[in-house]
Amino acid sequence: MTAALQIISMNSRTAQRAVRFLIVEAFIKVSDPALRLNDTQAAVVLAEHPTLAEHACRQQGFGRFADKLEQASLPHLVEHLAIDLLAKDYQGAIAGTTTWNNHAQQTMLVRLRIPLAESESKRQDEENLLAERRAGDGLLAERRIRAEQAIQQAITEVNELFK
Ligand SMILES: [Zn+2]
Repeated sequence: MTAALQIISMNSRTAQRAVRFLIVEAFIKVSDPALRLNDTQAAVVLAEHPTLAEHACRQQGFGRFADKLEQASLPHLVEHLAIDLLAKDYQGAIAGTTTWNNHAQQTMLVRLRIPLAESESKRQDEENLLAERRAGDGLLAERRIRAEQAIQQAITEVNELFK
């Protein structure tokens, strides 16, 4: 049986004009765009990730993700799960969006925007991050890998629910 979700590719970068954010994008193929969580699956997800219920969500009107869980596309769920996994490690809010990338090919794009701020000073952060970028992306690469792992883990969890 094919997995509900399959990762096509991932990429990441720091935002051009705002180095304080890391942008991570994942292109995900959905086996059936109509797939949604049923009551039981939603309960399992919320039991394993209770903080998911507190997420704000702007998709189709501002609200709580908990109220949208059963209408959410599976990549949208991946977005929130990945944010939930990463949220403990970062100061500031991680933002995410999920959109269609190619409807005909059933691929959706999950984009995360992760704050990289670490010091009190915005200018200091920018200097640090630019230095890191020049120095070969050491820390940035680490953060990117962690973000990509969170997305992978979220996809694995969702696929498990639909096995
Ligand atoms: Zn959302």
